[in-house]
Amino acid sequence: MIKILDNNLINKIAAGEVVERPASVIKELVENSLDAGADFITVEIKNGGIDFIEVVDNGKGMNREDASLCVERHATSKISSVEDLSNILSFGFRGEALAAISSVSKFSVQTKEIGAVVGTMVENNNTIENDFKVSEIGCAEGTRIRVENIFFNVPARRKFLKGLSTEFGHILNTFVNIALVNYRVRFKFIHNGKVVFDYHQYANIRGKEHESARIIDEWSGRVKEILGSDNFSNMIPFHQETGEMIIEGFVSRPEATKINKSHQYLFVNSRPVYNNIVHKAIYDAYRNLIPASSHPSFIIKLDLEPELVDVNVHPRKMDVKFLQQQEIFKITQATVRETLIGKELKNLSFAGEPFVSQGKEIKKLEIRNWKLGINNQNREDKISDFKMHTRGLSAPFIQQIKKQSDEIKNFNNEMFRNENGKKESLNWRLVGQIKNLYLIIETPESLVLIDQHAAHERDVYDKLTKDVENKNFKKQQFLMPLKIELSISEMDALKKGLCILEKIGFEVEEFGVNTIIVQTAPSDIADKNIVEIIKGLISDIFSNMSMDLEAEEKIIEARDRIIKYISCHSAIRGGDIMTQEEQMALTDKVVSGKIKSTCPHGRPIMTMMSWDEIGKRFKRI
Ligand code: ADP
Ligand code: MG
Repeated sequence: MIKILDNNLINKIAAGEVVERPASVIKELVENSLDAGADFITVEIKNGGIDFIEVVDNGKGMNREDASLCVERHATSKISSVEDLSNILSFGFRGEALAAISSVSKFSVQTKEIGAVVGTMVENNNTIENDFKVSEIGCAEGTRIRVENIFFNVPARRKFLKGLSTEFGHILNTFVNIALVNYRVRFKFIHNGKVVFDYHQYANIRGKEHESARIIDEWSGRVKEILGSDNFSNMIPFHQETGEMIIEGFVSRPEATKINKSHQYLFVNSRPVYNNIVHKAIYDAYRNLIPASSHPSFIIKLDLEPELVDVNVHPRKMDVKFLQQQEIFKITQATVRETLIGKELKNLSFAGEPFVSQGKEIKKLEIRNWKLGINNQNREDKISDFKMHTRGLSAPFIQQIKKQSDEIKNFNNEMFRNENGKKESLNWRLVGQIKNLYLIIETPESLVLIDQHAAHERDVYDKLTKDVENKNFKKQQFLMPLKIELSISEMDALKKGLCILEKIGFEVEEFGVNTIIVQTAPSDIADKNIVEIIKGLISDIFSNMSMDLEAEEKIIEARDRIIKYISCHSAIRGGDIMTQEEQMALTDKVVSGKIKSTCPHGRPIMTMMSWDEIGKRFKRI
């Protein structure tokens, strides 16, 4: 028999999605306080929040009518139309948090609007469900919400709560995430009557015109409070603005990495999220700078137009989806990389004047012409397409499955347009990456496996060789020239290879007795760890290369060895996770026959098995 569920049951089901544990209650309540414009928020809890949670703010408060509505499902003051959905900057907008929380706890709100004479109290009755009592009360301006005995009426869930210390850990974590970006708000946190922390308010110290100073003076203050000054001293601040996005934050110096991911925080439009693309971009920026088993610390904030981000892909809004993932990847990777590499070159003068404040400098990165690449003509279409396929999938696991195929589809569409902008249909399908070593592809005739390193190595090698042969290499000037210190014997060895390096696209200058400066690198590999590559060339190739390179073929032979070395060391390695974009691009080259079938060392780059043969193995034929 089909029945319509009653409201109270619906709220309890929703509570399962929104309210998982005390920490999620705190997150919802504190975010509401932030949305209400509070700049002082106190959270008091007892026994890991299981027995008692109270959030007090000095925000704008609610009048009697709003206060009695706020516990209703789909009661929200934050959106009123479908159009609003794509322009959300507030934290909440579904209007279900308070309805859900109040359906599974003893719940009360005390609130007074700024300037109002009396306040309002709304409380539920612990026994008769969905029955709220509304009364007048004298109270301070702002809002106080109390949540007691969470899940008292859903025993299965209450039992599911972990011990006090686990719940407390989740709460701390939630708190830290919120406090880290909202540095203009004072946060006080009390557990079992003891003040756990009381973070200062860092307000508008210098005024808006000093954006970089803002990070130093205000945000740094909060970051230091939270990470502790030792950890903080290893963080490099940065701020970068591109056409449609601001990316800023702190990344740990490469030498100060950790063996775990304990200090990694990502925020998109001030919302703490985990996002695969951005995380991968950050790790990519550290590539070759830190050992494989270690982890950087970072606090990174991306601010971009709300309509370019879908925050609605996850019920608790813990993940986001970007309209232009590839660009986000590139900008993040490049910004972090520049911040890291630049720091090693502190004593060189670089393009942007460093901003020095409180003895710490912030690097003003060059403002690039990075565009997120939507032109006005198809902008609306793209955005609505994007919203269409992300909205409405509420179960996270369905999204997980869909996400991958959508990404591949998107990249397909993006990357394989011909000159006239028409989509070309592909006669192959990328299934994905396995063991971080191989790509699997389905073609009409066969199942294809590509060795990612061998294939990419071949691609880089061919490009470099072709450019050198056509005397047409594109070199890229570094924003900050790379400085490398060498021993006397290394300097000697380098001199042997210098003339060939120049032919490939490196501009290298001596800089004092034992230091060289690299001004340019071939653009195909300029984002790779050039310092490592040059040091490697010196020790592995130049040091045992003969000096007499008069004969033409000897020069070519030496050049070839050098290009092989560079290709091998700048190619994607086995073990590297590849982005969809990288996977698609590489597959296209291999499948279309644009690159040869062996790597420069002669290993095959792909293997395949025909469907006939596979059919035979399954005794289908
Ligand atoms: P949402 O945040 O998605 O709108 P909630 O259930 O969290 O939904 O809150 C419902 C409404 O109650 C909010 O839209 C807001 O108008 C009001 N509200 C909740 N908490 C506060 C607060 N601390 N101060 C002022 N108004 C609040
Ligand atoms: Mg809310």
